[in-house]
Amino acid sequence: MAKSVLSDARFHNEEAAFAYVEAELWPNGPVCPHCENADSSKIGRLQGKTTRVGLRKCYACRKPFTVRIGTIFEDSHLPLRLWLQAIHLLCSSKKGSSTRQLQRILGCGMKTAWHLGHRIRHAMAPGAPEQLGGLGRIVEADETELARSRKTKRPEGFRRKIHNPVVMSLVERGGDIR
Ligand SMILES: [Zn+2]
Repeated sequence: MAKSVLSDARFHNEEAAFAYVEAELWPNGPVCPHCENADSSKIGRLQGKTTRVGLRKCYACRKPFTVRIGTIFEDSHLPLRLWLQAIHLLCSSKKGSSTRQLQRILGCGMKTAWHLGHRIRHAMAPGAPEQLGGLGRIVEADETELARSRKTKRPEGFRRKIHNPVVMSLVERGGDIR
């Protein structure tokens, strides 16, 4: 039987979801987000019956934390496994996923789907862009006009040259697109 990535425990089990994110964000063990203490002997796992999954305590600054702090998962009441499902959907579909599509697949409400989609896309946005091109690099440029369909009625006073947005794109071979 083929082993589908969708059957991975991180998509179904909250402990496994935390273990997955912790391994990604803390490759060398937990780090306290409050005081940056990374000494594993000074960080304990809180394990009461009613304790939230993934809760730890830093004995250096005496504050509790989870791996969600400082990430897009912070301040979210949604289970981490649902976040991982949404991230997987958005990252594995070539053209992204609409709010409605997320809502249908995840079986959640529309507000939840909207929130997930926005936060995840926001996190994927590129940071400060670097300069394109340079010595020996090839950058291609092209431009196009975004037009309405010929079937769409044009508003009064519409002038193609003025109202059609022009899009200019720069593509570095093997590099970024701007
Ligand atoms: Zn601390």
